[in-house]
Amino acid sequence: MSGIELANVNKYFDKNHVLKNVNLKIEDGEFMTLLGPSGCGKTTTLRIISGLEDPEIGLLTIGGKNIVNGEDKFYTPPSKRGLNLVFQSYALWPHMTVFENVSFGLEQKKMKKAEIRLKVEDSLQRMQIKNLMNRYPSELSGGQQQRVAIARAIVTEPKVLLLDEPLSNLDAKLRIEMRTELKRLHRDLKTTIVYVTHDQEEALTLSTRISVFFDGEIVQSDTPQKLYRAPNDLRVAKFIGNPTINLIEETCSYKNNQLIINSILGDFFADGDENVSDNITLSVKPEDIKIYSEPIGNGVEAQVYSVLPAGSETLIQLRIGDQLLTAKEIGEVNYPLDSKVWITFSFNKINVYDNKTGKLIA
Ligand code: ATP
Repeated sequence: MSGIELANVNKYFDKNHVLKNVNLKIEDGEFMTLLGPSGCGKTTTLRIISGLEDPEIGLLTIGGKNIVNGEDKFYTPPSKRGLNLVFQSYALWPHMTVFENVSFGLEQKKMKKAEIRLKVEDSLQRMQIKNLMNRYPSELSGGQQQRVAIARAIVTEPKVLLLDEPLSNLDAKLRIEMRTELKRLHRDLKTTIVYVTHDQEEALTLSTRISVFFDGEIVQSDTPQKLYRAPNDLRVAKFIGNPTINLIEETCSYKNNQLIINSILGDFFADGDENVSDNITLSVKPEDIKIYSEPIGNGVEAQVYSVLPAGSETLIQLRIGDQLLTAKEIGEVNYPLDSKVWITFSFNKINVYDNKTGKLIA
């Protein structure tokens, strides 16, 4: 039992209200990522779970046990919460070798030497640093130290693992390799993982669910697939996806229980109610735009503004009047700059947001 629940959690630093009614339920064995831009409250949430910070208001439960509430009626100290935390700064013991750093937690548990060696070697192997086990932290790069810190946290097989930007100091290739290792680790240990990152791609790859924070509030908690397909708020839509999603400001009217949307992509209907404002934003994913070199039935005419090859895919920027749209095609494609093309969309993949509330309406 290692599920975590935060109910109505509020945190202030002086007058700065940094967590506003955070409600978060993390199931036993989930890989939950807290995602959002810098300063939105992700680390503070993780520190509250770990016990490094306490909320002024709200309730924290771990494994069904009440851990802390804002009024101090009960309190479980950090060391008794059954969790391990890895920070962005790795805090290794400088006088111990890599092996000693990683084995320390197991020695405390009075495990047999041979078993300790096996477990430490397995953790180091997973992090691809077994060859460094006799070095001291001062003899390691930042990325290597970061991996030692993860190995040290996983070796004791904690019920809950809290990871704060644990891959931030790794180069691009190693970061991707470590994502695979973390995913396998989660499957093998069945640990509940709470993971902080501002990297949406990392979040989409690793998580069973993602909670997106803005300005101290959780705006959406969903599976990666749902978050990618239907962000419930414009801020989330802008944050998720690479290249960023196309946003097109348009107007709409309401008739016969439907929204009539007039747009540069064509006119279409969507479900909605009469309280929706006249000003809306459409979001279109780059991969949902199809380009044709010849006129096609319902195709919209556009002009090629730029073609950006990116290895396995090509980004094509298109112009319709003043609006620039980015399309993504698999493989190498080329269109002459400024040439005329025709583009089509699947209207059922276009999301519609109310500009007044920023919320998804269709
Ligand atoms: P980042 O991705 O940059 O680490 P974050 O989303 O993790 O950001 P937090 O570190 O949780 O954000 O910070 C949330 C807010 O609380 C920020 O405005 C930050 O300046 C403030 N804050 C964090 N720790 C403290 C502190 N110890 N004292 C005062 N303010 C703090």
